[in-house]
Amino acid sequence: MIRYALICHDCDHAFEGWFANSQAFDRLSKRGQIDCPECAGHQVGKQIMAPAVRSSDKALPGKMDEEALVKEFVRRARQHVSQNFDYVGDGFAEEARAMYYGEQEDRPIWGETTSDEREALAEEGIAAMPLPAPFAPRPPKSAKRKQPLN
Ligand SMILES: [Zn+2]
Repeated sequence: MIRYALICHDCDHAFEGWFANSQAFDRLSKRGQIDCPECAGHQVGKQIMAPAVRSSDKALPGKMDEEALVKEFVRRARQHVSQNFDYVGDGFAEEARAMYYGEQEDRPIWGETTSDEREALAEEGIAAMPLPAPFAPRPPKSAKRKQPLN
């Protein structure tokens, strides 16, 4: 035996019905042989089981929320850098060094270094934090780029 929560589509009466199996329900339902105890209508269908629907729905948005949170965090970090940091392009090592040695006033900057420059900065004790790709904003188009030395 199987129990179904049923609903009458004529009068919205909710009730329960017992059937031999799910095929038996389908057969009776198709033939309009399930009567509503309230209005005797035959437009009777299975109720959508709200708690089951809700709990299975929960798993997905939960995951999506987490992903959305990470995306939002990354977006904000990127925005923070682009709004508060000066993009200095490949002049980063020079600028960082100038600030470190007090030749230039401190300001938050971001830019690009070669691996040699990065090593040199580290050896001199100049703090520079690598920005993983998703956190790095798109370099502004107007940014001055050092011309390659010829
Ligand atoms: Zn009814």
